Amino acid sequence: MPADLLREVWGFDGFRPGQGEIVEAVAGGRDVLAIMPTGGGKSLCYQLPALMRDGVTVVISPLIALMRDQVRSLREAGVAAGALTSGNTDAETDAVLDGLREGTLKILYMAPERLASGATVPLLKRAGVTAIAVDEAHCVSQWGHDFRPDYLRVGELRRALGVPLAAFTATADAETRDDIVARLFDGRAPQSFLRGFDRPNIHLAFQPKDGPRRQIMDYAAARRGQSGIIYCATRAKTETLQAALNAAGIPAVAYHGGMEAEARRAVEARFQREDGLVVTATVAFGMGIDKPDIRWVAHADLPKSIESYYQEIGRAGRDGAPAETLTLYGPDDIRLRRSQVDEGLAPADRKEADHARLNALLGLAEATACRRQHLLAYFGETAEPCGNCDLCDTPPETFDATQPVRMALSAILRTGEWFGQGHIIDVLTGTATDKVTQRGHDRLPTFGVGKDTPRPQWQAILRQMLGRDLIRPDPERHGGLRITAAAHPVLRGGENITLRRDLIARARPATVVRT
Ligand code: ADP
Ligand code: ZN
Repeated sequence: MPADLLREVWGFDGFRPGQGEIVEAVAGGRDVLAIMPTGGGKSLCYQLPALMRDGVTVVISPLIALMRDQVRSLREAGVAAGALTSGNTDAETDAVLDGLREGTLKILYMAPERLASGATVPLLKRAGVTAIAVDEAHCVSQWGHDFRPDYLRVGELRRALGVPLAAFTATADAETRDDIVARLFDGRAPQSFLRGFDRPNIHLAFQPKDGPRRQIMDYAAARRGQSGIIYCATRAKTETLQAALNAAGIPAVAYHGGMEAEARRAVEARFQREDGLVVTATVAFGMGIDKPDIRWVAHADLPKSIESYYQEIGRAGRDGAPAETLTLYGPDDIRLRRSQVDEGLAPADRKEADHARLNALLGLAEATACRRQHLLAYFGETAEPCGNCDLCDTPPETFDATQPVRMALSAILRTGEWFGQGHIIDVLTGTATDKVTQRGHDRLPTFGVGKDTPRPQWQAILRQMLGRDLIRPDPERHGGLRITAAAHPVLRGGENITLRRDLIARARPATVVRT
């Protein structure tokens, strides 16, 4: 049920690190203190449980603008939310009071100042408040510079209502934490969640697809005897990979949402129990898995967002011992994920957000320095280079690719933004295929401008351009590549592009790769 709400109300694929456990505790009516980095997604941790519970959840938050924002986006998502703040119009306040009286409101935002009025507690009592959430809970502590005396009244409110309280903050040293516990929970220890996002024991690696079946088989074979998961984009692939692994003498089982519930439970139980089993799975596998010694997680295909990626690799190494991950990706994955977003039923702004989350993952895939730093930065944490990712192990060679990127952009533009990668590379390399001559593309000024760059190198450049979202396949033109707004500064000469010198071209110069 939480996963359904997450999808339906917020449009998210899964929880961010830490969210799932917190949601479970808050929804279960526990007192909770959660310390999460800024941008980590705290609001979801009280909003989602509010929808799972009966009655109203009161949210104490210090910032009126923020409350209004949150109420607006909750309403847009169809959630009965309201705020009582000094910024309300009378009509807004009346609507909120009506909702409270009628028992239709689910989430009520309130500034702490409001608690100074003697009428507030009786009002909340009558309204059937069943939980309290406190945002920026460090405001209750004199230690911090954000001390707000009215926050002290939150403790009184909890006592008066006798309901569970969940406190959230991004900043809490030990003294502040003790203050929060003393003042909001009367010194009774809440269930505490203190976790940054870093999972330093998990080694991170990405590879462009280059004979992906062999890449995955080699990876699994090198880890024979260890428990691992291989995530695949399709159900069919989980089965073909499983067969290939078994044929190679590596014990493997497939798992996907199309299987009977009983068969799925059998796989889960076997994985839990057995050592050295590999599960080839779709994303359906994992929610209920609590196996601490999963030693590796591989993605045979690119996940759909940076959040999904983090969640899936996070299943490895829960015991804290070293664990490894590998994510494969190629232009087909990027096209598939883009078209899944474009062809979905979501409204336009959500599609944009989904593209952005995919872009974030692609940026990580094509990173030029420490992946962990890159990943943590996305979640709002700063870090030193980790020494435990492929890019720290072997810093990639980069080059100024501004010139070839401009050539490719120009070839795409001059052919009318109608064609896929293969055709664009034919034009760039001066390959006069029938399609090229029929369309007269051999007479374009860009024809052959890139003939000194080998084809695999062009493929790598175009893939990285897709990854940087300089170009996108257009679903209305059968996936023909078009140029995005991000490419304009490059075309105008205002921006230089640094790319990785590609692995494929260096490692396998003699291979002919078709596009
Ligand atoms: P915080 O209050 O911790 O700084 P927010 O609750 O404002 O963070 O969330 C930060 C951003 O992360 C928001 O844009 C939110 O939409 C996004 N976000 C939160 N949870 C998820 C999730 N599970 N999947 C994808 N995006 C999420
Ligand atoms: Zn690193």
